[in-house]
Amino acid sequence: MTEFDYDLFVIGAGSGGVRCARISAGLGARVAVAEERYMGGTCVNVGCVPKKLYVYGSHVKEELELAATYGWDVDTRGFDWATLRENKVKEITRLNGIYRNLLSNAGVEVLDGRAVVRGPHQVEVGGKTYTAQHILIATGGWPYKPDLPGIEHAITSNEFFDLDALPGRVLVVGGGYIAIELACIFHNLGVDTVLSYRNELFLRGFDGDVRQHLKAELLKKGMDLRFNHQVKRIDPAGDGRFHVADGAGQVEAYDLVLYATGRVPKVEGLGLESTGVELNAKGAVLVDEHYRTAEPSIFALGDVTDRVQLTPVALAEGMYLAHHLFGDGRQPVKYDAIPTAVFTQPPIGTVGLTEEAAREQGYAVQVFKSEFAPMKYSFAQVKERTLMKLIVDADSDRVLGAHMVGPDAGEIIQGIGIAVGMGATKAQFDQTIGIHPTAAEEFVTMRTPVG
Ligand code: FAD
Ligand code: NDP
Repeated sequence: MTEFDYDLFVIGAGSGGVRCARISAGLGARVAVAEERYMGGTCVNVGCVPKKLYVYGSHVKEELELAATYGWDVDTRGFDWATLRENKVKEITRLNGIYRNLLSNAGVEVLDGRAVVRGPHQVEVGGKTYTAQHILIATGGWPYKPDLPGIEHAITSNEFFDLDALPGRVLVVGGGYIAIELACIFHNLGVDTVLSYRNELFLRGFDGDVRQHLKAELLKKGMDLRFNHQVKRIDPAGDGRFHVADGAGQVEAYDLVLYATGRVPKVEGLGLESTGVELNAKGAVLVDEHYRTAEPSIFALGDVTDRVQLTPVALAEGMYLAHHLFGDGRQPVKYDAIPTAVFTQPPIGTVGLTEEAAREQGYAVQVFKSEFAPMKYSFAQVKERTLMKLIVDADSDRVLGAHMVGPDAGEIIQGIGIAVGMGATKAQFDQTIGIHPTAAEEFVTMRTPVG
């Protein structure tokens, strides 16, 4: 039998790679991880973590406004972007160190540098070639920008987190998670924010009422939403600003243009042509149910496979693969009813089928809906409203989906996700005693279907 340097060579120390490497080493495997950019990958460095910190930071504005209604005389001298950014940098640096320690304490060898696959069992890093029985491609994704004149002037989420200064006026292009989350951060930090989406309504694939509700709330807060809006070209204005021309022939000036128009699998220059690994038309690595590629010794998971681009999914896949290769195996990752949140302000939490998908799939759909002003905003001038919605199959009484727009939606839907994943019925929701006074209790007190 050939003696390899490692049992597993992981390319990419992001969410999926770190989890798989650490668990594999714990199961006795000899493991190496190569990382070219930052420990912890996208989520820790330019994704979930800094994003959530900035959401907290920008939401303080709304808390300060509320403070006065509760009798607090708050004297603020305004907001300092550099403080928020530098605190973020310190926290991420701390997390980078934790990730490195987690790996080395588990016995994983960490190689700093870009890895290139040189064959079914060979990986090169820093001019040295290592051999491994298994190779894992966990290289994640990279922002995609469409090709149009002047697109090189637009930044992406990668650059957003370390801007030198906040712009006075920003154009955010896209209608997915990233565009809307970042637009909300800018808006709450006082930036004049315009969100441009190419079709009728943002967040395609989310429940229709959720999309409409968020649109109404963002308009109430004064965000400038442009739907059916196409950017045609971006030109430097000569004064540090940019002139953006749209499909209707309008030209407007912005200090910054940010594109959040999706992410593509990171496979360029990875050397996969030296193997039998196959990619789909979008460049995503094709894998079977065990995350094995067309090259039997090479596996791939997380964003590079372009299935569900979420950190907990990459973690679950990494966990599965470690146990599949070096343990006693595990239950496959459950891809249906994945709970997810969009950290807009107000946030969205959602799990299971949308009303539209349930109807399309032929269910006898019952809809329960509640819309109300959260108690917290009782004294507020502009009342933010919360939406909660349950989609039920009238034949089996099973709750097919739960959707919410409102404070703490992610926190609330995480628990509801367990019930929906277990196939809970509406009767079981109704039997559950509410926690009073909370917004969440509404999920167990909606009695009359609205459709
Ligand atoms: P990654 O975390 O991207 O890790 C891949 C790693 O591989 C990187 O560190 C990269 O440098 C390294 N690498 C690539 N090529 C090589 C090479 N050749 N050699 C060595 N190293 C290499 N998900 C959520 O669940 N919740 C959120 O709130 C959330 N917010 C997000 C916000 C933003 C702005 C973005 C961009 C993403 C967000 N995501 C969120 C998605 C989440 O970050 C990803 O789904 C997750 O990071 C994917 O993990 P991964 O292991 O597949 O890849
Ligand atoms: P998404 O795929 O979610 O959204 C991309 C958006 O860009 C869509 O609105 C799409 O429009 C639009 N778009 C695509 N191509 C073009 C184009 N050529 N011109 C104009 N608009 C275009 O990608 P994101 O970049 O927002 O995020 C990537 C992934 O990261 C998410 O899908 C999610 O899985 C993950 N993520 C998760 C977060 C969370 O859990 N809170 C937060 C941030 C990211 P259309 O709908 O018409 O196709």
